[in-house]
Amino acid sequence: MHVVIATMSHETNTFSPVITDLDRFSGGHDLPLAGEAARGVYTGTASCPGGYLQAAEEFGAQISIPIIAAAPPSGPVEDDAYEYIVEKILTAVAAGCDALLLDLHGAMVTRSFEDGEGELLRRLRAIAPDLPIAVALDMHANLFPAIVDNATVIAGYHTYPHVDMDTTALKAGRLLLSSLKGECQPTMVWGNAPMLPHVMRQGTADHPNRELQERAAAMEADGALAVSLFTGFPHADVSQAGLSVVVVTDNDPELATRLRDELLDQAWEDRKAFVYQVEPLAASVAKAKALGDEPPAADRPGPVLLLDHYDNTASGGTMDTTEVLAEILKQGLEDVAVFGFYDPAAVEAMAAAGIGAEVTIELGGKLRMPALQRQSRPLRLTGRVKLLSDGRFPATVAMSRGLTMNMGKTAVLSIGSVDIAIISRHIEPFDPGCFRSLGIEPTARRFLMLKSRIHYRVGFTPLVREVVECAGLGVCTSDYSEVEFTHVRRPIFPLDGVNTRHGV
Ligand SMILES: [Zn+2]
Repeated sequence: MHVVIATMSHETNTFSPVITDLDRFSGGHDLPLAGEAARGVYTGTASCPGGYLQAAEEFGAQISIPIIAAAPPSGPVEDDAYEYIVEKILTAVAAGCDALLLDLHGAMVTRSFEDGEGELLRRLRAIAPDLPIAVALDMHANLFPAIVDNATVIAGYHTYPHVDMDTTALKAGRLLLSSLKGECQPTMVWGNAPMLPHVMRQGTADHPNRELQERAAAMEADGALAVSLFTGFPHADVSQAGLSVVVVTDNDPELATRLRDELLDQAWEDRKAFVYQVEPLAASVAKAKALGDEPPAADRPGPVLLLDHYDNTASGGTMDTTEVLAEILKQGLEDVAVFGFYDPAAVEAMAAAGIGAEVTIELGGKLRMPALQRQSRPLRLTGRVKLLSDGRFPATVAMSRGLTMNMGKTAVLSIGSVDIAIISRHIEPFDPGCFRSLGIEPTARRFLMLKSRIHYRVGFTPLVREVVECAGLGVCTSDYSEVEFTHVRRPIFPLDGVNTRHGV
């Protein structure tokens, strides 16, 4: 049995100005990894390729890896990057194989296609109409008909933070490969609901997604082959943005339809719990300051965390808006560690000055955000260069465990008791290694500020005593009225009043 494993993964924020070129898919290498190099990096890791490799090895398959291309969320994918990745996958399939295991995100928009994954699958079907294809998708997938119509089995994550990427791919891979041996006959149905769940309300520790994902897992334990509820990605103005469900059963379309409808009904019933309530920034920072002034309870030590969630790089944020940090400095919070700002020019200026030097820099606010009415501005800061680093550290938390995180060239600016990590490659801070690799012990600080939304929970929830969500500025705004939706199907909740999940 010859199996092709490939990754083409990107969550596209159509409002983001951050460029998505081939370099962004390359993970700090000259080009995206492939072949034995990719196998060496991903085997045994908490990632989709890691799960697929395990499945293929269990079945004793011969494995080809034409490309592992995963880019951090950002604006629409450049056409030449997209065509490069697609060509690698098409060429590997054209050379002949028995099955294809695809690690896709499910919300990839390119300059030319609103459904990047569906376009890939259409082209695959043109050359391999009967090839068994497994697709592992992110919970934030915006599902299009062409994805489902051209895949054999689909499985999505059940967790957010995504700590089950490897087991999702393992499930999809095992399903597909066992069907090749005649052990099951996958049949698949899907559907969506006219709703755009807010990302800040999608965490699986919280109602209502906790119960939805628990129910999906229970359906699998009860005999469905794979049940996936995609909360979708609302920062994408594409026709099929929003919540959807895919159910795979063993040749039982009636059961698949019934389970799909049950989950869609449950999600629709809970739609108001997926709406996020925004609080003014000054009030949030004042609340955090007051919490930090209280002595911590003995059973809940650790810092107060201020979450700059409008500018989460893993939702396409520029990671350089300054509003939350400016408010923290204005209100005089002390003993703060900040992660982080994407500002390669600032890093270069600090590197040129050297460790220990006093510098004045214009931090952040540099990337223009034409999709928003408001624009962030650079923050003029004077401080000391505390540390310089190559920005690499090993991921140790359940998400991405086994992989090397790459922040690019990194510098720490100290302003009194405030330490700011400034990086040259976008990463979301979900692993405390982002601080510790820079000599900052997060548990020893009174306050942390993170540019994150939900993924921080995987590494930081155990370390902090309180979390205060701060509405700053950015292209993953928590206020949908700040951006213009012109392509998404209407009516859709909560942009419009909708009375039934059938869109009436
Ligand atoms: Zn996701």
